[in-house]
Amino acid sequence: MLFYTHSSERCDEVTAHFHCPACGDRDVRGLAWTERQSTRLLGILPILEERLHWVSAPCCERQLMSRVTPRALAELDPDEIQFGRILRDRVSPVKILLLISAYLFCFMPVLGPVFFLFAWLPSGSSRTWFRMACRIWVILHLVMMNALVVLLIMADKK
Ligand SMILES: [Zn+2]
Repeated sequence: MLFYTHSSERCDEVTAHFHCPACGDRDVRGLAWTERQSTRLLGILPILEERLHWVSAPCCERQLMSRVTPRALAELDPDEIQFGRILRDRVSPVKILLLISAYLFCFMPVLGPVFFLFAWLPSGSSRTWFRMACRIWVILHLVMMNALVVLLIMADKK
C-alpha cells in the first residue's frame, strides 16, 4: 500500500486567445484546461483537493495560471484578459507544497524522494526558481544520504 498518493486529471480543454504575461507576446493562441488535483494520505485520507485552471503559452512554452475557468477564458478577448490580470505566470501551489514537504523529509531515504518526485514530475515547464529549488534539493538529499551511510558505518564499528 502506498503511504501517499497524488492524482491529477485534466478536463474542459478549450483554446483561448490572449496576450502572454510571461514573455509579452501578443495575440497568442493556447490550450486552456482545468486540472483537478487530489492528494491523499494512505490512499484514503484527503489532505488537499484543488481545482486549478491553466493555459499553455506556445510562445515561451510556459504554463500560466488562470483565475477563471477555461470556458470563461475562451469567451474573453485578449485585452480584457490582460486588463483584468486574469493570467499569471506562476508555479502551482500544490507543487510548492510538495517541494516544501520534500525539504522537510530530506533526511529520509524513501519518503523524501517520493515527495520530490511528485513535486517535480507533473506538468511541463516551471519557473527558474522552482527548477533551482529542485536541484538544490537533490544535492542536499545526496549529502544527507552520504552522511547517513557514514554515521551507520561509524555506529557499526563501535
Ligand atoms: Zn509567452
